[in-house]
Amino acid sequence: SNVVSSDTGFKYSRVETPKYTGAREKATFVTLVRNRDLYSLAESIKSVEDRFNSKFNYDWVFLNDEEFTEEFKNVTTALVSGTTKYGVIPHEHWSFPDWIDESKAAQVRKEMGDKRIIYGDSISYRHMCRFESGFFYRHPLMNDYDWYWRVEPDIKLQCDINYDVFKFMGENNKKYAFAISIKEYEATIPTLWETTREFMKLNPGLLHENNMLDFVSDDEGLSYNLCHFWSNFEIASLDLWRSPEYSAYFDYLDKAGGFFYERWGDAPVHSIGASLFLDRSEIHHFGDIGYYHVPFYSCPIDTGIRLANKCSCDPQTDFTWHSYSCTNKFYTVNKLQKPAGWQNHIG
Ligand code: GDP
Ligand code: MN
Repeated sequence: SNVVSSDTGFKYSRVETPKYTGAREKATFVTLVRNRDLYSLAESIKSVEDRFNSKFNYDWVFLNDEEFTEEFKNVTTALVSGTTKYGVIPHEHWSFPDWIDESKAAQVRKEMGDKRIIYGDSISYRHMCRFESGFFYRHPLMNDYDWYWRVEPDIKLQCDINYDVFKFMGENNKKYAFAISIKEYEATIPTLWETTREFMKLNPGLLHENNMLDFVSDDEGLSYNLCHFWSNFEIASLDLWRSPEYSAYFDYLDKAGGFFYERWGDAPVHSIGASLFLDRSEIHHFGDIGYYHVPFYSCPIDTGIRLANKCSCDPQTDFTWHSYSCTNKFYTVNKLQKPAGWQNHIG
């Protein structure tokens, strides 16, 4: 039914947008979020709907470590053109596993807090990073899908997307796509690469023969260059994370304890995973999507693309070709053609 009743008992009708007539993929948006971030998220959803999803009506899965409020469900259901689903995360996916020494973890949080490392003192941020690294794709609500697009509160899409990005991924044999890449704070992942090297040594057969190790390492795997895809935007195949290769990698990292004894982010973990286990041709940069997550913009520097897609972003703000970004390296190592004039945007 399109009649929705509000928490004050007021009934309103949802005006349905015309349905996209092409066959849809088994795909969904997915957002991990707290109730208190409802209105920051509402802006993100409105932007994604206006620029893309009102034409395609994909579902939206919301996940939380506690129950969503009625207000949260009513507002988000009113905004999303597809079906909305709300899930609580199982306790074992948002808590300390039994092999973690919690007093050692507490000591680390204190030290990292004193050093002013971003989110260094936070327990919840660590649960969040571990959940996004190894568990979101195992939530029962995600079982209906092959593809997802991750959305966070306070993001913006600044160009129209007039094609089905999920279909694009499938038709072009892509498994992981990003908008922005950057270097990680080394202090949050001091032993992540060491641990990854141990894993590679123990499991050499799990690496893809045409992997993209040269995106994450400048010395053939000796050290990590800190490059990662910014995971607040991801369009990807759930099969990538559900694969035996990535599952073994995540389990190895999880046992090593760095999600709690350091502050390993899901962005470097996903990025290293995608770079090691995929064919390099399966990783895609969406250069035509205007995207913003504080403090960086991805804005197509090609005027033709911006005008054709009604972009509202300022190309001067584009981070894609900035020297702190790793996207230039992504184009170089994959021998992809860079847009004309990229040199004018290195900052
Ligand atoms: P940042 O982008 O690295 O600064 O981190 P965010 O604060 O945006 O968090 C990343 C994602 O995890 C966002 O989608 C947040 O809504 C979500 N998130 C972060 N912490 C929590 C939490 O404690 N509970 C829930 N349910 N979601 C969280
Ligand atoms: Mn964020």
